Amino acid sequence: MIAEVIVDVLSSEVDKVFDYIVPSSLSADIGVGYRVLVPFGNRQIEGYIISLKESSDYDLSKLKPIIRKLDNYPLIKPEMVEVIHYMKDKLYLRLLDGVRLSVPTQVRSSIKDKVESIISLDESKAVDYLSGLSARNKVAPRVIEYLRQYGAVKHTYLNQKFSSSVVKKLIEQGVCIENKQKVNRLKHKSRMDKQIVLTDVQNQAMKQILASQDKPIVLYGVTGSGKTEVYMHVIADVLSKGKTALMLVPEISLTPQMVGVFTARFGERVAVLHSALSVGEKHDEWMRIYNGEAQIVVGARSAIFAPLDKIGVIIIDEEHDSSYVSDSSPRYFTQDIAKFRALYNKCPLVLGSATPSIETFYKTTTGEYNLATMPVRVNNKPMPPIKIVDMCTEFKLGNTSPISSCLMEKLDKTIKDGNQAILFINRRGFSSYMMCRECSYIPKCTDCDANLVYHKNEGVLKCHFCGKKFRALTKCPNCGSDSIRMGATGTQQVVEFIKDKFPDVTVFRLDNDSVTTKDAYSRILGEFASTKPAVLVGTQMVTKGHDFPAIQLVGILDADISLFNYSYKASETTFALMTQVAGRAGRDQINGEVVLQTYVPRNPVYLTCANYDYSKFYDKEINLRKTTQFPPFASIVRILVTSTEDDVAKACAHDIIMELKEYRVKYGKDFIFMEGMKSPVGKIKNKHRYQIVMRFKTDILDGVLQEIYTVLDRKKNKKTSIFVELNPTSLS
Ligand code: ADP
Ligand code: ZN
Ligand code: ZN
Repeated sequence: MIAEVIVDVLSSEVDKVFDYIVPSSLSADIGVGYRVLVPFGNRQIEGYIISLKESSDYDLSKLKPIIRKLDNYPLIKPEMVEVIHYMKDKLYLRLLDGVRLSVPTQVRSSIKDKVESIISLDESKAVDYLSGLSARNKVAPRVIEYLRQYGAVKHTYLNQKFSSSVVKKLIEQGVCIENKQKVNRLKHKSRMDKQIVLTDVQNQAMKQILASQDKPIVLYGVTGSGKTEVYMHVIADVLSKGKTALMLVPEISLTPQMVGVFTARFGERVAVLHSALSVGEKHDEWMRIYNGEAQIVVGARSAIFAPLDKIGVIIIDEEHDSSYVSDSSPRYFTQDIAKFRALYNKCPLVLGSATPSIETFYKTTTGEYNLATMPVRVNNKPMPPIKIVDMCTEFKLGNTSPISSCLMEKLDKTIKDGNQAILFINRRGFSSYMMCRECSYIPKCTDCDANLVYHKNEGVLKCHFCGKKFRALTKCPNCGSDSIRMGATGTQQVVEFIKDKFPDVTVFRLDNDSVTTKDAYSRILGEFASTKPAVLVGTQMVTKGHDFPAIQLVGILDADISLFNYSYKASETTFALMTQVAGRAGRDQINGEVVLQTYVPRNPVYLTCANYDYSKFYDKEINLRKTTQFPPFASIVRILVTSTEDDVAKACAHDIIMELKEYRVKYGKDFIFMEGMKSPVGKIKNKHRYQIVMRFKTDILDGVLQEIYTVLDRKKNKKTSIFVELNPTSLS
């Protein structure tokens, strides 16, 4: 028998699949998906069997045999082998990328299960032992009594409570029995579960979801409509049929609150996968899923590769969220993989959102997806009113602070009422940049083509592309002037402003700088939750999924930042972001309100958003996309070429575009646009960046992609990296 083996060689651009002979001693207990050790050059390396066959196209005498298998079970299950092939054929990922996504490093590395020693009693021995014991020995009887009462007890605990030497002696004499037991490194804090009966609307949505076996279903429900509860009921139903469930949420929504709600309902059956887990925790959670101990996976993007069997439902919550597209290599769309797995398992795929992405919602109008709608909040609480404030007028009236007088008034009231406010600002750091007032000099990163951001606490300038730090300016290095201006406002500056105006109120800050450790995020949110009055200032982290009852006010300080982003999705992203953060207010008893500060108050995105009118926004946007030929009617592909040498990157991009030009002719008018240029951010981490951006009718996407990849395969070389992105959300 011959095995096709994907060998795990780092730093190789080409997919390495080689034929190896399966020695007869191994053939009985080896199969597709097994991890094996194979000879490679003069080394021995790890590989994965991706298929088995009777013969090879190569000279048999040149083939080497597999040395041995590395696990007693296939690390890649049959379904995931299919997924890996699919990703190669349809998404143009390397097989090795597929393997690495399916089997995380934490599982491949040699992490051992964590075991704990548990002590119990041999009752008959204990009786004999006690009868022969001298009266002076007081501790041993107490240990025995304790074990009689509590059964099995942790060894370490017994040692602490009594005496390790006495416990040791009891074990030696056979009175106590020691058992090793595997423990999970990840501990979930238990909390009370709410007994909830679904409303009629929720029930209807649940029925529609369970019936939607043939195509994906969009669950469009306003913030607070109870989507999470619908998910949990669907999951309970699926579990009762002996199946499993996969639920994805954006990384930053994976709050302890969210995980807590699931574990309260489903206990040990839940496994959690996200990037903040330690190596050991990730290993344990993955193995619990693999073994079937956990039947529900709650996780971020990469959890779509979780080794679940018999999936009964896949849920992608906040489906519009940009975190579902991986931003670094290997690039993939989570929805594609989810669709494949749903089809494989013949199970529903739920795409939930209060603001579905335009492309997703469009598919509900063409019949490609089903649609379930939940138009009101569960408790029939009205959506919090959104007031749009014109910051130009504020400025003309002499208010140069980041907070309008309207927001100031409402903040004052919220604090007096003893409630909470969230101030959302889409930017971290103290201010966005420093600039010389005399000559307009702006300091830039030495490695990237990017303005540096001032971080006041640390007193440094930071590059947000590579993280490099630089000394803050006191004098302009260009003209010597010491008149340095700060650019637009950041989170730190707002925190200082609020503390200055309201010295008695507690202010929390939530951004990448305050959340530096794994626990900081939940600690800050936890403290905020139990403090009244309080103000929480933060970046996107404050917008997602939180369900705090005391939030009376949400202030959006600079709505325009995302609106003027250079992307065809800018309006859509802004609408979603504003709706999401507004949805944090007035979820429970308190009436909430929202203040949205902008320099373009008449922009239709804000006007529709302020009325919570998704469908009007959608109609406008889809018409625009149609007339201007943008997704979903057209597709955008960006090829990004990077290299440490500017000339090399440029030449490579040039070569590619010359070849693609020939193909372009073939498609005529369907190929709308193609242009090569230096990327807007011309350099990141000392790598020069060139890009080719194309736009063409979506009907020809498959054909064009295939041709692009054929060209790129020829252009690959050691000095350049080439990335292909479909419908990129940012062209930086
Ligand atoms: P969404 O995810 O749609 O924003 P959630 O699922 O977070 O909304 O629900 C909002 C709140 O309503 C939560 O506190 C949840 O426990 C509660 N809730 C959901 N469904 C019901 C119900 N049927 N009856 C009572 N409370 C509910
Ligand atoms: Zn940099
Ligand atoms: Zn200057």
